[in-house]
Amino acid sequence: MGLIYFCFWQRSLLCKYKFYIDTINLKRQHYIVIILILVFFHLNLFGQTAGNKGKKISTVVIDAGHGGKDPGASGSHSREKDITLAVALKVGRYIKANLPDVKVIYTRTRDRFVPLIKRGEIANKNKADLFISIHCNANNSHKPYGAETYVLGSDDSRSNRNMKVAMLENAAILLEDNAKSNYDGFDPNSPESYIIFSLKQNDYKQEESLVLAQKIQSQFKNRAGRKDRGVHQAGFLVLAGTYMPSVLVELGYLSNYTEEKYLLSEKGQSYLASAIYRAVKSYKQNYELENKTANNISSKTKQPKLNTTVKENTKVSGGVEYRVQFTTSTKKIPVTDKRFRAIPDVSVYYHNGLYKYTSGHFNTISEAAERQHKLKNRGYRSAWVVKMKGDKRYTGSVKNSVPKVTGQKATALEYRVQFYTSPQKRPLTSTRFKGVEAIAVYYQNGLYKYTAGHFSTISKATAYQKELRQKGFSDAFVIKWKEGKRVE
Ligand SMILES: [Zn+2]
Repeated sequence: MGLIYFCFWQRSLLCKYKFYIDTINLKRQHYIVIILILVFFHLNLFGQTAGNKGKKISTVVIDAGHGGKDPGASGSHSREKDITLAVALKVGRYIKANLPDVKVIYTRTRDRFVPLIKRGEIANKNKADLFISIHCNANNSHKPYGAETYVLGSDDSRSNRNMKVAMLENAAILLEDNAKSNYDGFDPNSPESYIIFSLKQNDYKQEESLVLAQKIQSQFKNRAGRKDRGVHQAGFLVLAGTYMPSVLVELGYLSNYTEEKYLLSEKGQSYLASAIYRAVKSYKQNYELENKTANNISSKTKQPKLNTTVKENTKVSGGVEYRVQFTTSTKKIPVTDKRFRAIPDVSVYYHNGLYKYTSGHFNTISEAAERQHKLKNRGYRSAWVVKMKGDKRYTGSVKNSVPKVTGQKATALEYRVQFYTSPQKRPLTSTRFKGVEAIAVYYQNGLYKYTAGHFSTISKATAYQKELRQKGFSDAFVIKWKEGKRVE
């Protein structure tokens, strides 16, 4: 039953697949396996492209937990829904006042009930760059206090403590009218339901969510002077419904008298909201700086000569090297761990509160891109090339994802004119390709190869080759193309 819960997550997509699969009437277990493969495929594709999607953080959704008929947790004289709304509105006000290029969207601005599924939909529809859900904790004991931040994942604590927090928050769906169909029978109180969250998540969303979560905790501790209860992972439905980096903040415990007083105070709410705002600001600055640096690196790299043989034009010196980052973790895993067995030359470095694992040490981007390609084929779909100096990231990152073959996907044989090759990925709209028709790109042996036209005969292709040579692409030559790849 839990598996079908994915329908909520990727609903429209799955229902489409369900239709096709139903029509061919497969056995039930095949059906489930196929659905899972399709979901992972889709998530991975998303993970691959999401990193390049937006170069700026321009829309932030702030989600005040609970509301209306759902009061959330209660303290001795406080309700969670009132505190989350007050803090959410303050966060929004700080962002609007200090980051004028960021659009703030609230899931609610008054005491109103909003289903969990709707909150994610608001963020997805508005193509938000970040989603921040604000909550307060409660415990049977009066002792616990402090702030913590969650990202979507499976509970990694021994006591299932994190899952219990998620269960409390997910219980909000029991007040919803169509919960059974909206969440496909997900039972927020049954531990079995939570197995679904141990499945592989979208790497991009996961990593970026962790970065933001670390920043929020660091602000809570250093700026607001709160007890830092750390960053954790658990199965929160509200986080499962979004496509973008998403965190759930537990501001503090309403069950602790001292903390309840702080959470109810104007000063406490301002400090907490200011901490979240500062974390967003810092995340935005880092994110945009990294993207800017990546762009500068690719535009400053010397253009390769037009030649069909492989030319190394990206040699780096001074202790700078390229590695392929393939996974990250909040906990340190030894590089000899058996889960890395199949990956050559694993190293680890620490960055933005995360342990980041890389493969290889390369002098050139093209060598690294080849490794990246291999790791992607092994399932590390968001593997990417990072530039390192020693154990530190060097002037940002070099995004270098492998493009899909674009252009016509004919099964028939066709001819194309290959006119440009580069270890760097160039946009097809690049000004250097001005005047070239029907551009497509394919990736081979660590190089991006650009072709023009889709011709049915070799003579038509040769005529266009001549034209391109006159345009300055003096090494243009004709290739044969069939079923998505070059043939000899
Ligand atoms: Zn809550």
